[in-house]
Order: sequence, then structure tokens, then C-alpha cells
Amino acid sequence: MNDFSIGTKCVQGGYRPKNGEPREVPIIQSTTFKYDTSEDMGKLFDLEASGYFYSRLQNPTADTVAQKICELEGGTAAMLTSSGMAANFLAVFNLCSAGDHLISSSSIYGGTFNLFAVTLKRMGIDVTFIAPDCSDEEFENAFRPETKLVFGETIANPALNVLDIERFANIAHAHGVPLIVDNTFPTPVHCRPFEFGADIVTHATTKYMDGHASAVGGAIVDSGKFDWTKYPEKFEGLCTPDESYHGITYTERFGLAGAYITKATAQLMRDLGVTPAPMSAYLLNLGLESLHVRMKKHSDNGLAVAKYLENNDKISWVNFPALPSSKDYELTQKYLKNGTCGVVSFGVKGGRAAAEKFMKQLKIIAIETHVADARACCLHPASSTHRQLSDEELVSAGVSPDLVRLSCGLEDAEDLINDIQQALDKI
Ligand SMILES: *Cc1c(COP(=O)(O)O)cnc(C)c1O
Repeated sequence: MNDFSIGTKCVQGGYRPKNGEPREVPIIQSTTFKYDTSEDMGKLFDLEASGYFYSRLQNPTADTVAQKICELEGGTAAMLTSSGMAANFLAVFNLCSAGDHLISSSSIYGGTFNLFAVTLKRMGIDVTFIAPDCSDEEFENAFRPETKLVFGETIANPALNVLDIERFANIAHAHGVPLIVDNTFPTPVHCRPFEFGADIVTHATTKYMDGHASAVGGAIVDSGKFDWTKYPEKFEGLCTPDESYHGITYTERFGLAGAYITKATAQLMRDLGVTPAPMSAYLLNLGLESLHVRMKKHSDNGLAVAKYLENNDKISWVNFPALPSSKDYELTQKYLKNGTCGVVSFGVKGGRAAAEKFMKQLKIIAIETHVADARACCLHPASSTHRQLSDEELVSAGVSPDLVRLSCGLEDAEDLINDIQQALDKI
């Protein structure tokens, strides 16, 4: 599919049925697979032959859909996981063990922040957070001999900062480590981080890729470009024999194109079992078939709503990366030329109480802990996800008490704007 453009890959990537085979990706709803001899199966266990034996490790439906996402991102290998959190955890844990360290942008999804700040620490992996716009010097000072990777989000959820991927990749590479980018918000339709030097990409497919709030899921894609074998002591797990897998050395057996994803599948899926259901992979594929059409509409709606809000005197501030007034507008021009996403954040004059009152009046925009759905939804973090925090604590977490996060769906922009207008009229 590499000769085709992104929309064609969305529709037809990953699956090329042969003569007489189903046109639509088949759901292989089977935990296990049958073999004629034990030798046949033994070869699979030794990773000498490729094939399926147990759906905790690999399933044909999930692999077909992973292959489509791989083609969309321009990678060499990919896998699906049971959730976006599982994707981020496996992506990092595939390179880090107790005693290791990673550097992350501080502007990332709250769940990932908690994984890094609390859960990885309990596992003995230390994390240094840096502001995405910190100086090169501050960035350089965060590196330690045991640093294994750098992590960031293309468009951060919910702060909506745009990551300077090229700068992050260059600094990571100068220190001999890869850059992992969570590309959930723009999707490969609007940004392909590998084209700017990122090495590994993750996704919460739960969001735009699925796009219909139907299945939680995640994905990891490898660019195949990071040369682990240049730093064999640092990436021991990829460059020395895995005794838990019959002494295989992943980089020798699978090359740079396949080592990272094969290790994550053979070791981490085997031991942690964060497996996607075949039915969820099928639903994800339905979403992917229209991703390019939907992303344009989400992004256009986001911009139309952001422009309307910017000119409304009941609104104190608006943050949307494609607004010329955004502090990240230049980065948006570089990394997100064709569009961004449908998520807009803004403040309602009158603070916390006004924001709550405004949201109560909305008719077609629903209050939900979700984004990136076909249906518009919104959230007031100060009274929901962050309600335990005081106003001062909210500000230091980057969530002001008046902040409303609005995810524009696929409705017509004028109806979203009219809904916001009538709700603002009542406060
Ligand atoms: C939602 C989200 C996640 C987590 O995904 P789940 O499928 O909910 O586990 C990770 N990263 C980003 C950017 C997200 O928006």
C-alpha cells in the first residue's frame, strides 16, 4: 500500500483478500489454532516459523488492523493493545527496567502522567518531566546514563500544546535514545511523527481512530529506524539473547524492522496479556475506513467553534492550535499543515460556577469523560476529573477552574455554535 495516499490506506490498508475471500476483514473469534504435529507448533514457540497459536499473543484480526495502522504511520511493524494506556505502558516497558530512567514532556494525557509519575516509580523506573517548550539546556540536563527514551504527545490532551517533534527527536538521538510519540489526537491523517524523526508511535485508538465511542483500544508502531545495535549495553533486551525465549536475540533474528514489536509481543503480551479482542479490532477497522473523511470534519468544526468563541465576550480565553492567536501556531504550521483535531479548550467568564451553569444548558453537546467521538461532548475538569483539587492546585496542574474542554463531533458547525450561543445567553 506504500504507493497510495493516506485516504486510500485508511480504506484499503492492511487487508488484501485473495480470490474468493471475504471483502471485509474477518473476525477470527478463536482463542486457539489447530496444528497437525507438535513439531509444527514447536517452531512457532521458538519463533522459527510465523503463525498463530494463542490469541493472547497474536490474533489474525488484530494483526490485520495493526498492519493498516502501520501503513498509515509509515512504520515497519505494529501491534494492537487492549487500551491506549496499555500501548503507552508496553511501549515504554519494552525498553525500561527497574533502575532505568526516561524523560517525558510534562504536557501529556493525565492517565499517562499518572502511569509515569506513580506506577512506573513503584516499579523502579524514574521519570523526569520537562516542559515541552523548555530550553535545550534544561532538556540536556535531564539526561542520565540510565536514560532509555524520551516521550511526548503530538497534540497534548487536554492542554493542546503542539510538540516540536524534530527538536525532541534530535536531542534524544544526540543522547543515543529513541523518541516515542503518542499521536492520538492528530492521527496519521494529520501528522506522521516518523516523517519528523520520531522512532516509535503510540495511539489510544479509543479516540478518533475508532471515532464512534464503541471500543477501547491502543496501538504501537515502530519506524524500524532506531539502531538499537549501536548501543547494545543500553538496549540489552533487544541486543542480547532472551533466555525466556529460547535464547533469541531480537535484533539478529528480526532486524531493526521487526525487533522492537516482536519483543513486545513475545515477552510483554505473553506475560501481561493486555490483548485486544478480535471484535474490538474489527470495530476499530470500521472506524479507520472513514478516518480521513472524519478528521477533516472534526478539525474544521474545531476551528469554526474556536473562532466563534474567540469573538464572544462571555469567553475569557480560547486555546486551539490552529488559531493564529495560539502560542503554538508556528508549530501547527509545520507539523499539522492539513488540520489538527476537534478538541477546543476555553474559559467562561465568571469562573467555575459560570462554566458549570453554561454546560447544564447545552442541548446537543453532552457532558462526558471522553473526546474524539462522532457526537460532540464536553467536560469541566474542575468539577469532575480534577474535583479533588483546590483552585490553586488546579492552576498548577494546568487546569484553570473556568476551563471547559469541548470535543467537536461530526455535527454541522452551525448547530454546535448555536447550541453554545443559547447556553451562553442563559448565564
Ligand atoms: C485517552 C488517551 C490515552 C489512554 O487511552 P485509553 O484507551 O483510554 O487507555 C492515552 N493517550 C492519549 C493522548 C489519550 O487521549
